[in-house]
Amino acid sequence: MTTAKAEVLIVEDEPEIAELIEFHAERAGMRARTIHSGKLALELIRREKPDVIVLDLMLPDLDGLEVCRRLKQSDDTRGIPIVMVTAKGEEADIVAGIELGADDYVTKPFSPRVLMARLRNVLRRNGAVDEASPKNDRMILLGGKIVIDLDRHETVVESRKVELTLTEFGILHYLAGRPGFVRTRDQIIGAVHGKSTVLSSRTVDVHITALRRKLGDMADCVETVRGVGYRFADASTSDDD
Ligand code: CA
Repeated sequence: MTTAKAEVLIVEDEPEIAELIEFHAERAGMRARTIHSGKLALELIRREKPDVIVLDLMLPDLDGLEVCRRLKQSDDTRGIPIVMVTAKGEEADIVAGIELGADDYVTKPFSPRVLMARLRNVLRRNGAVDEASPKNDRMILLGGKIVIDLDRHETVVESRKVELTLTEFGILHYLAGRPGFVRTRDQIIGAVHGKSTVLSSRTVDVHITALRRKLGDMADCVETVRGVGYRFADASTSDDD
């Protein structure tokens, strides 16, 4: 982290919610600013490049998913992390946002503490070199409890070699590539597609179950995010909601 304050842009048309987020962001040592319109947000983001965006999906002029799509389509703004704010029960929106490239989300009503934790996480991940970068031929995860050797297609769990199918290996490798990030079933299918048999949403679940069984005591590292998908546990942060 640099010493400069992280700049968070809040895109939210409800003033009370925007003020609440601003208050907590500033208390957490960030600089916060609110914009009430999706269209104006796009202009401002292109011009000023904030460090992170809190994006409400329900906006009056241009909905949040469209804002997300446009930001992630442009080379200029693609790298800016987005944390979505969604209405309760709108899992389809969450899935769509994640597939468009949003980094994380909270659901209304959310705890400001949880939102701040999410913001710090995406900022940290954005700045940090990924420990588990897929460019290396070995991924060392959870302090060495899981080691994935990409060249040899080998997985070692707590010093024990584990035999995974190609699909299980592909799923684990994909999820572990970005610990803490939720992946939807469609993203998993896209990543593993072609490496083995054809996958469907339901077979993803079946492979995950088999993968967890083989991981034994470490099964919990593949987390279910209800209604959205799966993620690999992030050892450096614990979710407190
Ligand atoms: Ca709204």
